[in-house]
Amino acid sequence: MLFIIFVILTPITIWLTLHFMSRRKASTEEVEPGSLIEVCAICQNEFTMTELLEKEVGGYGRVYCFCGQCIENLYNEYRNKKDTNIGE
Ligand SMILES: [Zn+2]
Repeated sequence: MLFIIFVILTPITIWLTLHFMSRRKASTEEVEPGSLIEVCAICQNEFTMTELLEKEVGGYGRVYCFCGQCIENLYNEYRNKKDTNIGE
């Protein structure tokens, strides 16, 4: 009797576990890129992936995220530096 219960319950348990895992996997895949939160590498503020620019930095294949405001600040900084260099 115990053997029969074991034989019946084991496949059901395995099936339920696999079913639950595949459902969880499917639900995580459904996450839109717009709802993913990442931290900007410069200002350390949190943004959604749609607001960030991903760039591979250095030779180690590390990917950093930069927000629009930081990119603009860098651009302005670079422009100011170039302008002062030309002025000299
Ligand atoms: Zn930033």
